[in-house]
Amino acid sequence: MQGQDPEVVVGLDNGGNKNNATVVDVSRRFLVDRLVETPSRVQEGPEIAVEALGQACDGILQRTGIARARVRAIGLDTPGPASAEGVISSRGSTNFAHPGWRGFDFRGALEARLGLPVVYNNDGNAAALYAHHVCFGADAPRRSSISAIVGTGLGGGVIEAGHIVKGAAGMAGELGHVHIPMEGLLGEGQPLPHCNCGFDGDAESVASLTGIEKNLLPYWLTRFEGHELGKASSPAKAAMLVRSYGEKGDPMARRIFEQQAMALGRLFTIAANFTDPSAYFVGGGVVETTAEFREWFLSRVRESTVLREEQARVARFALVPDLDMAGARGAALAALESSSSR
Ligand SMILES: [Zn+2]
Repeated sequence: MQGQDPEVVVGLDNGGNKNNATVVDVSRRFLVDRLVETPSRVQEGPEIAVEALGQACDGILQRTGIARARVRAIGLDTPGPASAEGVISSRGSTNFAHPGWRGFDFRGALEARLGLPVVYNNDGNAAALYAHHVCFGADAPRRSSISAIVGTGLGGGVIEAGHIVKGAAGMAGELGHVHIPMEGLLGEGQPLPHCNCGFDGDAESVASLTGIEKNLLPYWLTRFEGHELGKASSPAKAAMLVRSYGEKGDPMARRIFEQQAMALGRLFTIAANFTDPSAYFVGGGVVETTAEFREWFLSRVRESTVLREEQARVARFALVPDLDMAGARGAALAALESSSSR
């Protein structure tokens, strides 16, 4: 291998509990076909977590039998909020609660640990980039897409001409905090949903697990008196159970998910008028479920997205593929792209 240009990129997805590692080569072929997870140790502070990521990188190279000299760059993704350059918010966050994380330059620290260039993205953007590449393949540089990923919050990203739209301050693609029209979405007497970010009536206030717990479930339980979920030990526990009821066709759970699908459709309608993307992707727990429920949900999102006839003819609606690996893979693709354009 001596004398050859470095030809692989390692992708490292850093989460609250686990790191997931992957390797991609210059022809965009993934050399790891499964989830390879190790503890992220994020709760123990930055020093220990950076070391854990360093070990995840060494581990995946060992596993794939690739010499370190062949690694061109590292792609890193983490949950937000962080700057475009991978500096964790000075206010901390749910995932980075240890005080050492405040204002910590995660990207820079990993670069120093590994002695290789590290390219940073938030996890939603990385997954969006992966979905885009899986859907469009060789056509990816000529297409645009939007991904909405429903989890505790609402994440995702905007891809334009094959690139992640990051924005001036790195805050583009914060889809959860885009205001959406609530008229016709809310039930009779349903209070305006509130989001943790301080907004009322944004996409995340409805289309997130937090939205179910804080806004949707409390209202719908008043409409379905005596529902079993009203007897759950806590609102958080009840919110987590809603999906399993939805899968079984429970009418109240379906009303809740219908509101989430409408919220995503309205968000996508805004996207249709902003950037007119080629594809609309939906991901997250809400679609990590039975085929029937997934198809029902995706079709409700599609029905709630108002497209012009010309747009409807060319637009695709699909799921974010391999969601558990999408972050690491997208982070690797982003690093590959940026190291190729250097
Ligand atoms: Zn918000």
